[in-house]
Amino acid sequence: MRVRSAFFCMFLIVVMLGGCSDGGQPKAGARQSAEPATNIILLIGDGMGPEVIGLAKDYAQALEKRELWMEKVLSDGHLALVRSTATGKLAADSAAAATALATGVQVDNMSVSVTPEGKPLTTILEMARVQSKSTGLVTTTRLTHATPACFAAHTADRDSEAEIAKQLASSDIDVMMGGGLTWWIPAGKPVAEYARFGNEAGVDYKSSRTDELNLLTKAISAGYRLATNRDELLAANRTGKLLGLFASSHLPYALDRQPNDAANVPSLAEMTEVALSILSKNQKGFFLMVEGGRIDHAAHNNDVASLIADMLDFDEAVGVAYTFAEKHPNTALFITADHATGAPSLSARYDEKAGDTVYPDDSAMRKISRQDASFERIMTTLAVRPSAAALRELVAKHTGIKLSDEDAAFIMKAEPVSPFHVIRPKYRQFGYPTLALGRVLGVEYGTAWATAEHYATPVLLIGYGPRSNLAHGYLENTDVFKIMKTAGAL
Ligand SMILES: [Zn+2]
Repeated sequence: MRVRSAFFCMFLIVVMLGGCSDGGQPKAGARQSAEPATNIILLIGDGMGPEVIGLAKDYAQALEKRELWMEKVLSDGHLALVRSTATGKLAADSAAAATALATGVQVDNMSVSVTPEGKPLTTILEMARVQSKSTGLVTTTRLTHATPACFAAHTADRDSEAEIAKQLASSDIDVMMGGGLTWWIPAGKPVAEYARFGNEAGVDYKSSRTDELNLLTKAISAGYRLATNRDELLAANRTGKLLGLFASSHLPYALDRQPNDAANVPSLAEMTEVALSILSKNQKGFFLMVEGGRIDHAAHNNDVASLIADMLDFDEAVGVAYTFAEKHPNTALFITADHATGAPSLSARYDEKAGDTVYPDDSAMRKISRQDASFERIMTTLAVRPSAAALRELVAKHTGIKLSDEDAAFIMKAEPVSPFHVIRPKYRQFGYPTLALGRVLGVEYGTAWATAEHYATPVLLIGYGPRSNLAHGYLENTDVFKIMKTAGAL
């Protein structure tokens, strides 16, 4: 029996490459094709719990009578559940979660790809570069934000964005695109001196640095082409190295880029398309991470219309990646989330007036579709004229919903709506009325929110392409790294 097992194992090693070994390998059970992938694309929906995919699906089906791209990948690919944990915690922040995905090591919350002793952990992107592959990071948040940072920078504190920008500028990553230009320019300087931003992208910001470093000059002398808006990106030559910084801080919410890309900020799909056309020129292949980073922010704000708009923006990027992988079968595609945020649920509720339980239907989706600005934008505008009357006017203008006097007073009172909605003091001025707005509009939208924070639930890992069948079973977030490493033979 033992002899037969050993023989069987050897046979498997020959045909499946590594199916019987342990160290550093994904969990057994899943078979894999023999040839590794040349290209790896990892798409991360930040804060994209399974229910968020459900909301995007219900919306696309109700209003646009169409499937999500993610459904196509699900139909043709493989699926696993993933625990999103950090050291000693059942729920993770984006830094610990992205470190697990990028390095296969569980760390403390806040850590950017370092051990508790501060030792740098090698990332999947760095492993790809060692094999002479091209590399790319694309996000809708600041490039220096936790998720992209964990793939190429190393620091004990995710808030050290000045240091993270410095490390990114000397990282030699071929394509970097996102927001956060204020971390790349010398102290005191206005962004307008370096970038051609619209209002929505934060044209009136100044540098966030406290030193004289000009990382843009450094990047340009290291051979990067710089793009600071959508027009420049789409006109850019698709060869060599590219640095795209399209906003002072995060890119605007997808909802706030409307109509017709007025903010002159590229969509995640456009950035992904440009990244793929540059990276795919390398015969040795590439590693690309694409993050829909503002899904998380909309969920923190309990803003379901912004959440769905950013999910659909992310899903278009999934479509670009999937279409590429279909045409280039040596490409393995993985879609996952770092953690879940907000716990939105399309929920039934007992309606006193109707004397019955009301179940959500497509009318909730139609109401959500009428909201044309994010809560963040509504609240920023309200700050100019903070009164219940101004609030009612703004909400009616941007959602078509007339708030009652009672609801407007509840929002203006700006108190936490539950113990799981108590937030850091620095965010309270905007955060509390925002979350109260989410609670009030939630009744119209059929959407209840359990929390303003991250919470523990399994997230999905969807795989497509060579060895993607390793996306199988109930995994730890550290397994996602192991699966990518095996898929790409890195
Ligand atoms: Zn978050």
